[in-house]
Amino acid sequence: MRSVAQTVKRAYKYRFHPTPEQAEELARTFGCVRLVYNKALEERTRAYTLEGRRVSYVQSSAALTGWKRTDDLAFLNEVSSVPLQQALRHLQAAFTGFFARRAGYPAFKSRKKSRASAEYTRSAFKYRDGRITLAKTDAPLDIVWSRPLPAGAEPSTVTVSRDAAGRWFVSVLVEERIAPLPPVDATVGVDAGITALATLSTGEKIVNPRCEQADRRKLARAQRALARKQKGSANRARARLKVARVHARITDRRRDQLHKVTTRLVRENQAIAVEDLAVRNMVRNRSLARAVSDASWRELRSMLEYKAAWYGRTLVAVDRWFPSSRLCSACGALQDGMPLGVREWECACGAVHDRDVNAARNILAAGLAES
Ligand SMILES: [Zn+2]
Repeated sequence: MRSVAQTVKRAYKYRFHPTPEQAEELARTFGCVRLVYNKALEERTRAYTLEGRRVSYVQSSAALTGWKRTDDLAFLNEVSSVPLQQALRHLQAAFTGFFARRAGYPAFKSRKKSRASAEYTRSAFKYRDGRITLAKTDAPLDIVWSRPLPAGAEPSTVTVSRDAAGRWFVSVLVEERIAPLPPVDATVGVDAGITALATLSTGEKIVNPRCEQADRRKLARAQRALARKQKGSANRARARLKVARVHARITDRRRDQLHKVTTRLVRENQAIAVEDLAVRNMVRNRSLARAVSDASWRELRSMLEYKAAWYGRTLVAVDRWFPSSRLCSACGALQDGMPLGVREWECACGAVHDRDVNAARNILAAGLAES
């Protein structure tokens, strides 16, 4: 167990309001980032499929210099060169993941579907008196500081993005010293669900945000309205923006809740046991509720992972073949089957179980045995 403070990289994300000039410059930069990424991906794909050759970051970077010298692509010189280089680094990371079999083949960035973003490293922005000014822009960003950066923090990377709802964000990466929390005795098992976001071995159910049902209905209505609009019309663009806004509100509230839940779990428990992700990927039910809960679960897992590491807690992932819902947590007897619809059941030993609480208890026991 760790007892000394460690330095971690932590991202702080804020909304900001660009001036019309900044919006224009950033939109142009986003376009160039996408173009450079896609063009380098195309070149790498050609080299890989036709010649069996792997292109390196350095070679891609040299190609970019060449593109900037051509008449067709001279406009790439008009934006800051750093986000373009960073796009090539991201592509390099995507290929490293692919060759290590950790990820699929890198995909092209689409104007409509990919989130527009540009990453600025230290040489491409100024940070003075708590204000951030990006290269090639005239004024500091008008950031909504919803929480302060840690005192004395020096941003190392600034990423600007715009989501489908048209909102602008800036994510500021800083190095921060984090001290571990004092040790506690409590441990907890967490079972992921659809009806509840998560069920704890303590019997507590963490429910989905209360407003989400209403927002989901609004989302469905907005999606139906969008489907009725004529392709390419101004009405359709408006309808698409509306869908994106409702969607953004749902994910924002979820993320908010996930942060609160994970911080609390890490604060209150020395060890946290969760079921391995792969279990859930095997379920073939692709309903909207399922998709949303899968995404939430992945996010919850990754938050637990980094927060546990920050604060000196242990996170254990339980084996994917572990029959957590069919095992009686009181006597250890294994039931033959457990259809998804069964929410409560009684074991031959007399124990009556809530399906999810029982699963969470088994996950905890297996997690403690493993660690
Ligand atoms: Zn039993």
